[in-house]
This record gives sequence, structure tokens and C-alpha cells, in this order.
Amino acid sequence: MEHVKDRIRTITDYPKPGIMFRDITTLLQDARGFRKTVDELVQAHAGVRIDKVAGIESRGFILGGAVAHQLATGFVPIRKKGKLPFKTIGETYALEYGEDVVEIHVDAVKPGEQVLLVDDLIATGGTAQAAIKLIRRLGGDVIGCSFIIDLPEIGGRKRIEAMGVKVLTLCAFEGH
Ligand code: AMP
Repeated sequence: MEHVKDRIRTITDYPKPGIMFRDITTLLQDARGFRKTVDELVQAHAGVRIDKVAGIESRGFILGGAVAHQLATGFVPIRKKGKLPFKTIGETYALEYGEDVVEIHVDAVKPGEQVLLVDDLIATGGTAQAAIKLIRRLGGDVIGCSFIIDLPEIGGRKRIEAMGVKVLTLCAFEGH
């Protein structure tokens, strides 16, 4: 997916030394690039019934909202702890140093609903794994995950596939 990958900017040593930050704002600000990205994120799941699209804070909101519009489904935000106003459930996941929590509203997904999960990038897969657990705890069926970027050396895709969830990525970058 070169036309997508070419439009992603890499910022070295952001937010800390040693990290190659994959910045999708350069892709999003490009009309054709943004449209192509959303089309591709949707396409791999053609033919599968999707009731809801769930997006992970915060770049997953931009992409997930557009994907939900295109599929004519509802959109569900999965947010960092303390941001959602109604009753929530949460999942803790490990970071390189410490841990973090993601939350979902208890009424966001109904039992039996088929959900597509969207975010910009998969690294360790820890965030997506926590998001999948939240959706499953509400009785939802995660029919797939779509990401723009895979960092295959880190192995997140395998971790999600081991949960029995199909993973789509549009491009890959070497390293971390
Ligand atoms: P992980 O839980 O390790 O798969 O990390 C995925 C989350 O962290 C996504 O929401 C990404 O937006 C963000 N992220 C992790 N690594 C990078 C990176 N190198 N560049 C940009 N975003 C990243």
C-alpha cells in the first residue's frame, strides 16, 4: 500500500529517545490519502456483517468514525481511564514502564453484536488486546481489527490473531 505508506511521516526520538514515531497526520491531511486509507480499512471486511465500529483513543476515533460512516454503523469510543462520562468497565494492560487502563461504556455494545476494532498502529498489541477483552465482556463478537500500520518485529499481530481475531494492516515499518 505504497500510496498510504509514502504519506506517513516518521519523527525520530519522539516522544522519547529511541522511538520512531509514525505520524499519520501527513496522511490524514491529504484528501486522496485519507479516502484511500478509509476505503482499504473497510474493504477487507466486505461481506461480513458489522454492527458497530470501535475506535481506540485518539487516532482510532478519526479513522473509526470515518469507517463507521462508510459502513453505516454506529461508532463506539474506547478511552483512557476516567474520560467516559457514563458507567464503564475497564481493562488494565502493561506498558513498557508501568500499566494503563482503557474503558468502554457498559451499554456501548449489545450481546451478539459484531464489532470491527480500528486504530492507527499496532505495536505490542496490548492496547488492542485490552479493547477486545472489553468488547467481549459486553457480549460483543470482534470480527476483526484494522490498523494502518504494523510494526511486525514487535509481534502485536500474532498476539491478536492468537485471540482468534482477524487482523488487517495496510503497511509495515521495520523496527520499533
Ligand atoms: P501497542 O499497545 O503497543 O500495540 O501500541 C499501540 C498504540 O500506541 C496505538 O494507539 C498507537 O497509536 C501507539 N503507538 C505505539 N507505538 C507507536 C509508534 N512507533 N508511532 C506512533 N504511535 C505508536
